[in-house]
Amino acid sequence: MKIAFIGLGAMGYPMARHLAKQHELRVWNRTRSVAERFAGEERCTLAASLDECADAAAIITIVPTSREVDEIVDEIAPRLREGTLWIDCTSGDPVTSRQTARRLGELGVELVDAPVTGGTPGAEAGSLTVMIGGSEGGFRRAEEICRAFGKKIIHVGEVGFGHAIKAASNTMLAANMWAAAECLLSLKKMGMDLKTAFEVINAGSGRSNASENLLPKRILDGEWPVTFKLGLLDKDVRIAASTAHAQHLSLPLLSLTSQLYTAAHHALGGEADYIEAVKYAARMSGEEW
Ligand code: NDP
Repeated sequence: MKIAFIGLGAMGYPMARHLAKQHELRVWNRTRSVAERFAGEERCTLAASLDECADAAAIITIVPTSREVDEIVDEIAPRLREGTLWIDCTSGDPVTSRQTARRLGELGVELVDAPVTGGTPGAEAGSLTVMIGGSEGGFRRAEEICRAFGKKIIHVGEVGFGHAIKAASNTMLAANMWAAAECLLSLKKMGMDLKTAFEVINAGSGRSNASENLLPKRILDGEWPVTFKLGLLDKDVRIAASTAHAQHLSLPLLSLTSQLYTAAHHALGGEADYIEAVKYAARMSGEEW
């Protein structure tokens, strides 16, 4: 199938690699040298401009936010063909994606929101989980394509629900990570050995992805790799908090989590790794890990 892939970032690059092995792939990236490197490594064609992506049977976007997706839609819209499927793998905003879906629908193009989870290792391995919002037909078409990089592909309801569940899931991670960091900081200040603390927590009721996988490597081993930008997690939490607010719900923990990650973003910069937020959590008490 003729597929256009837009956004060869930390996630997009390895995802596109899987697609190139199965489809007639055309790639475009804002920084052209990245697309050229990709084209040097994989069987694909290089789009000279976004316009050259418009005649594909399916267009995949994975860029930072829904704003960039909309800018791309604006640019390509006049040349889109009826029947095209637009798969937006960005972790976007459900309200915007519904508006974009309506706009594309008027051109005969179906948009499904299809954010992914599993991080860069999942993208490399082709084992991502893909949560797809859209019609039953759109889901079926997208599922076949997303199989190239996804292991678990779930239809989560109408368009927008993919982005909504992705934001909610990352917000749960963010809140949990912050709570774990605060508890660990208190134990550390008391003088407890944190290796022992992790051993107990991970055998008991406080166990989580943060305590089992994310924090020990950073806090115990002192390794802080950049895998997912803090600016992007801040964006996800902001989406979840603003979606709740727009529904006139009183969800204070969501608001607080959003405030904390926005503060961490400002303090550490958006390019820092998301888990470095726990450094900021410690600095709020004048401490370091
Ligand atoms: P990166 O910052 O690594 O890549 C972003 C991509 O978007 C790059 O290709 C970049 O191009 C492109 N881009 C940025 N701005 C624009 C623009 N204005 N117009 C066109 N293209 C643009 O991000 P990730 O790959 O990490 O994340 C992409 C999406 O996936 C985000 O929504 C993120 O939340 C989500 N995600 C990320 C995960 C991760 O672990 N990293 C996991 C799951 C979801 P250029 O090369 O020019 O900068």
